[in-house]
Amino acid sequence: MYKQPVNLTSDTLTKPSKAMLEAMMNADVGDDVFRTDPTTIALEEKMAHMFGHEAGLFCPSGTMTNQIAIKAHTQPLDEILCDELSHIYRYELGGYGFHSGVAIHVMRGKNGIISPEHVHQAVKPKADWNPNTKLLIIENSVNMGGGNYYTLDQIRPIAEAARSHNLTLHLDGARLFNVLVETGESTLEYGKIFDSISICLSKGLGAPVGSVLIGKKEMIDYARRVRKVMGGGMRQSGYLAAAGIYALDHNIKRLKDDHDHARMCGKKLEEVSWVKEVSPVATNIIIFRVADHLNASDVAARLATKNIICLPITDKIIRWVFHLDINDEMTDYVVETSDTLY
Ligand SMILES: *Cc1c(COP(=O)(O)O)cnc(C)c1O
Repeated sequence: MYKQPVNLTSDTLTKPSKAMLEAMMNADVGDDVFRTDPTTIALEEKMAHMFGHEAGLFCPSGTMTNQIAIKAHTQPLDEILCDELSHIYRYELGGYGFHSGVAIHVMRGKNGIISPEHVHQAVKPKADWNPNTKLLIIENSVNMGGGNYYTLDQIRPIAEAARSHNLTLHLDGARLFNVLVETGESTLEYGKIFDSISICLSKGLGAPVGSVLIGKKEMIDYARRVRKVMGGGMRQSGYLAAAGIYALDHNIKRLKDDHDHARMCGKKLEEVSWVKEVSPVATNIIIFRVADHLNASDVAARLATKNIICLPITDKIIRWVFHLDINDEMTDYVVETSDTLY
């Protein structure tokens, strides 16, 4: 039995390390609504520069950066395109309708991955009775696709297809750095393709709060107004931004450890009788289906008696997420426990 809970519920559970807390406590702050908070401005500029974009906007959550991007890129009666597994479609309460008055067309990719053909087929002809297809959103890595990801070579033809229909492109890059440490691809290449990118600091990067939206200066100026009307203008946000800067400086490379941990556990799950099927483990997420005679909440309850905590997603499917608070020893424990669970 492991001495403390091994919590695989989400990579949002990470707590700031001592060094990160130190960086937060020492942050130089002002009032970001008056744009006098130097640390917030530094984080926004740092993220924008990494991707070759003009400007950035620090927000409390990835839901907010995504929703602000949709608002900035569309008008009411427009339509956005997303894969059926996307966070924007599934877990943001239909905010695209609430905030932006737009329709959504949901594409059926494979494990959350779409092709140029999906885009060509989804775009609606111009007509008074059709919404105006305006914005393509790609999610990378794909959360509900089991951490599956697109490479740039896969994204380029999709982006070309979108441009051929005059669509704008937004990237929900909540976990983009998980992709980049796997592929070794460049942030600047990503920046060239997308009009805007949303990146979470509070997932694998280990900051307590926050996401950054990057894009052209004019778009980000408007985005700042939208953030304000949503009640997201923050004051001494430099304390939080300092955690984000620390995360970008120290926690990117180590994401690879989370992927190694996920692969070790995924391999074991493929061998055990209580699991029917494991989605290919591409980054830090494992999605697996329990055996036919079991149900996911019973399996999760049994894991909990062994101090392994996770959330079943459906009655048959469980997700495990690896992150910076899961070390080598805990990973070994999960592998051993998986072997003997039933
Ligand atoms: C977590 C996540 C978000 C944003 O979530 P918040 O909890 O609002 O920060 C957006 N997109 C994806 C793919 C995510 O996994």
